[in-house]
Amino acid sequence: MRGMLVIISGPSGSGKGTVVKRLDPKKNYALSISITTRPPRNGEVDGKDYFFRTKEEFIKIRENNQFLEHAVYMDYYYGTPRNYVQNQISEGKVVVLEIDVNGALQVKKKFSEAVLIFLMPPTIDELNRRLIHRNTEELGVIEDRIKRAHEEIKLINKYDYLVINDEVKNAVHDINTIVEAESLKPSRCKDLIKCFEE
Ligand code: 5GP
Repeated sequence: MRGMLVIISGPSGSGKGTVVKRLDPKKNYALSISITTRPPRNGEVDGKDYFFRTKEEFIKIRENNQFLEHAVYMDYYYGTPRNYVQNQISEGKVVVLEIDVNGALQVKKKFSEAVLIFLMPPTIDELNRRLIHRNTEELGVIEDRIKRAHEEIKLINKYDYLVINDEVKNAVHDINTIVEAESLKPSRCKDLIKCFEE
């Protein structure tokens, strides 16, 4: 199978991180690790959750054109390393990016074949509850993230699929199903079709 690029976005608190980590390990997924200037939260590990870099380091990487996409989110920079994604796709992997809406739309412009999935909590009340209970941010930051969530939700129609994360196992199941169905599209099986034509 040819590789595939799957992008998962959704408001802070939608549970993207948890869902992405539980995707079916048998399905050839490769999770891209982003570079960010945000300081690590408690328990986050450099090279596992993110590559944590200074603003100067980030700018250098950007100037060297090593990002597939990059965006600013709540005053911090985030970017996807281009090489990793290209290498994994050429090895036939399903590369998963967990990135914000601005980054997702940048990638879709360059690769129309990218599959955009928007992950939502079941209700706005539940989103607020998750952000407050997550306890990783100050109250002001939480309020900013809630505002940002409302902005992001307005762009939902630009996405190919909407997945409701009422329970992690249901959301994981939906995403695995989307990937399965996408992999069966004739446009993704060009090599196979060509060999029948010859
Ligand atoms: P957090 O600070 O909560 O880890 O991430 C904040 C937002 O940045 C989330 O919406 C997350 O998906 C997004 N994000 C993480 N990495 C990247 C990236 O490489 N590019 C873009 N555009 N957004 C990212």
